[in-house]
Amino acid sequence: MGETKKTDVVVVGAGPVGLVAGLALKEKGISSVVIEAEPYGRPRAGSRAIYLHNATLKLLEETSRGLGFTLARNGIIWPVKRTLYKGKQVYVRNYGVTDNKDPHHLPHFTSLHQHEIEKYLYEACVHAGVEFVWGEPVQTMDISKSGVRLVTANGNVWEAEYVIGCDGARSVVREQAGLRFEGPRTADTFIVVDVKEDPDNPLPLERTFHYQHPAMGGRNVMFVPFKDGWRIDLQLLSSDKPEDYMSVENVKKWLPKVMDPKYADSITWVSSYRFHQVVVNAFTDEHHRVLLAGEAAHLFAPFGARGLNSGVPDAVIAVRGIEKALSAPSEEERKAAIAASAKERRIAALWNRDGSSTALHHLQGDSREMNMKREIAASLVSVVPSMGRWLDEGPYGPKFGPPELTTKY
Ligand SMILES: Cc1cc2nc3c(=O)[nH]c(=O)nc-3n(C[C@H](O)[C@H](O)[C@H](O)COP(=O)(O)OP(=O)(O)OC[C@H]3O[C@@H](n4cnc5c(N)ncnc54)[C@H](O)[C@@H]3O)c2cc1C
Repeated sequence: MGETKKTDVVVVGAGPVGLVAGLALKEKGISSVVIEAEPYGRPRAGSRAIYLHNATLKLLEETSRGLGFTLARNGIIWPVKRTLYKGKQVYVRNYGVTDNKDPHHLPHFTSLHQHEIEKYLYEACVHAGVEFVWGEPVQTMDISKSGVRLVTANGNVWEAEYVIGCDGARSVVREQAGLRFEGPRTADTFIVVDVKEDPDNPLPLERTFHYQHPAMGGRNVMFVPFKDGWRIDLQLLSSDKPEDYMSVENVKKWLPKVMDPKYADSITWVSSYRFHQVVVNAFTDEHHRVLLAGEAAHLFAPFGARGLNSGVPDAVIAVRGIEKALSAPSEEERKAAIAASAKERRIAALWNRDGSSTALHHLQGDSREMNMKREIAASLVSVVPSMGRWLDEGPYGPKFGPPELTTKY
């Protein structure tokens, strides 16, 4: 039997969202610990986020001075976006070169691999003195009106006022709090490939989306540059067998059809995904002692880069709610502080899920109506240029933000 420790807040999971939660708690002087199932320095699987929005950079900068600028400086900005339909260009926009090293203004976005993002978040945590426990999966949680008792697989016990569950898609915190995901799963498979850039002869920095690439039998293909590499997304048809496309050997067969063949020798990661479009039924439990953040609370298709970009505010707003709850003069106000934070982030999650559903429908919807809309838009581009912009917006979904809430923390 292990020892019992007490703290105000336990953060479960040291993925990027847990790191942000740990950092925000530390910066506010709230006693806390981040407990991670895997050992320190674990290899992180999968190719995941490569794009952080300006709003995320600003929030990170507010949370920990210098962090937003560090991420901006160490990422890249692609100034050009281009869209082709069946091989024909239908849209191009050049924003001009943006200075991502400007020490006074955060750029519109920064593009760097999630491994790098996590490295800078972790460095900020270490600098701030965030306490970590590595290699201890949280196994059970006993949640009551007065707090939470957590037991790890190693038998150690933690007693906390609050828990922030940042333990990812298969969250134990979500399950132990009696909460559940709601929503569908996408039907089609996406192959996601990362390759290293050739430092001696790099490609121009352009995000390019191909509707129905002629060299790929009419499959959609997207290219997105990030610092020192490229992300290639191939969207399979419903009749495809994913295994024909996803092994490194098979990627080496199709990649040279859409990219300089030299990149087939620089593959760093291949994964295949069928995306869930799910949001948890509530962001907090019945006692208002647990808050969920990041993939523990929602999973979206990556179009519009909504996953980590909404995980960061989930964590920051959870911490603001907890800060208010810790000094609340009554049980009623304590619960209201947690409820406000949970409600705000659920509204945002539902909005993001709808946005990525719109993007998916725009890109892959195969109803007669959608096929016709895309065909007509592509054929009218030369006379109605806004049609090209409509096609180009497909991979993002709506751009405006979720409804403003009145809650002030
Ligand atoms: C192909 C792809 C592209 C993407 N692109 C973008 C993008 O450009 N921009 C964007 O914003 N988002 C993007 N996303 C989404 C983004 O990657 C995720 O939103 C993000 O990784 C979620 O982070 P997290 O910390 O919530 O979860 P995770 O990264 O899954 O971290 C969870 C952590 O909890 C730990 N854990 C699990 N169980 C326990 C337990 N019982 N006890 C203790 N610890 C536990 C795990 O070991 C892990 O370290 C993309 C995703 C994919 C798949």
